[in-house]
Amino acid sequence: KHNPEGDSQFLEDESTKIFARKVAEHYSARTNQTLEEREASPIIHLKKLNNWIKSVLIQLYARRGDAVLDLACGKGGDLIKWDKAKVGYYVGVDIAEGSIEDCRTRYNGDADHHQRRKKFTFPARLICGDCYEARLDNVLADDSPFDVCSSQFALHYSWSTEARARRALANISALLRPGGTLIGTMPDANVIIKKLREAEGLVFGNSVYWIRFDEEFSEKKFKSSSPFGIKYKFHLEDAVDCPEWVVPFHVFKSLAEEYDLELVFAKNSHEFVHEYLKKPEYVDLMRRLGALGDGNQDKSTLSPDEWEVAYLYLAFVLKKRGQPDRT
Ligand code: SAM
Repeated sequence: KHNPEGDSQFLEDESTKIFARKVAEHYSARTNQTLEEREASPIIHLKKLNNWIKSVLIQLYARRGDAVLDLACGKGGDLIKWDKAKVGYYVGVDIAEGSIEDCRTRYNGDADHHQRRKKFTFPARLICGDCYEARLDNVLADDSPFDVCSSQFALHYSWSTEARARRALANISALLRPGGTLIGTMPDANVIIKKLREAEGLVFGNSVYWIRFDEEFSEKKFKSSSPFGIKYKFHLEDAVDCPEWVVPFHVFKSLAEEYDLELVFAKNSHEFVHEYLKKPEYVDLMRRLGALGDGNQDKSTLSPDEWEVAYLYLAFVLKKRGQPDRT
């Protein structure tokens, strides 16, 4: 069992901090796009598909009135999804100052390029901070416990060291109520490692992305050494260009259990799409988000290269042990 007081083991070395800064600077520097710029993106359909996956997760697990913690909330792209789920309270935390500023602007309803809309119905608190370094239970003592925690396309940034991965899970566990839910998306290590094996060298990709492992990476070392800190550089056209870390999912699952977080399911995005596109309400949702062409009931508006990027990710749901104290 982990010891919440045993913080000395959570000290970090300088290089870990430098990488965390690199990630933060990368996301901070990405400015809000106009609607026209967004629609012209080479990965516009992938973005819409990812929005659909996040919307489905939110619709499945958030209930009216829920208190929501969005860890690594970015520019607040999910605010509208939470509003549609009629949640009661929202706290967003992100390490990138620029993103939190954009999130605040979007929440306040000014200069939202994507959708002119009325104010959000729920109160919100937006905080700039490193979710994988600082203890958040003190900072959020008055806001917790939360019914739902969401961490979208972000938890893998905690996997640079065991200390950070543990801090991320300790924070989530401490802030969720018993029976509360963690929903998220992150890279699927099985797919990434499979593609690396099939590649000629340490680089692979297509017209919209590439992944490059460091020179020191070797299959032998990968099998024998620590499951943390396995770094690669990820480039996704018009979206990402920064260091990321492989998250072997079986390690994630068992580490999460140490923090009372039990796996409900994990599904690769392809499997997720096939499963939930069987349900008419989610087909409609996909059409409304613009990820499906008129009359199509499949992935046909994504280019094959975008569809391959979707395959790099998985969606997961975990539940905090214990009985809910409300119905
Ligand atoms: N969740 C948002 C979404 O789905 O649109 C943003 C996803 S973006 C791909 C990854 C986010 O993780 C960025 O906003 C980045 O700043 C944030 N992030 C990375 N490391 C973090 C950390 N240590 N603490 C908090 N946020 C972090």
